[in-house]
Amino acid sequence: MPSEDLLRVFQGLVSLDCIAWRVGMAHAARLICSRCAAGDPHHTNALRSIGGSEGRHPVYDLHVAEGGGLAECWAGPIWKELEKGEH
Ligand SMILES: [Zn+2]
Repeated sequence: MPSEDLLRVFQGLVSLDCIAWRVGMAHAARLICSRCAAGDPHHTNALRSIGGSEGRHPVYDLHVAEGGGLAECWAGPIWKELEKGEH
């Protein structure tokens, strides 16, 4: 097999591995956090006036709870890792 084809196969395997990692991480988050399992949305922070111009951004440590309150997300670190997009 020409080396270019081998490289393409290898790149395919790497991206597959990355997808598997993402699926596994998301699955783990739903196992850890009952609110993630229920599909509850994460809180978003619209007012980052101190931090700069990042705009509206998910706060992965917090879920929007019943009645508009906030509840802790036990899988916050996992979602932060996923957001980085690399492993
Ligand atoms: Zn959660």
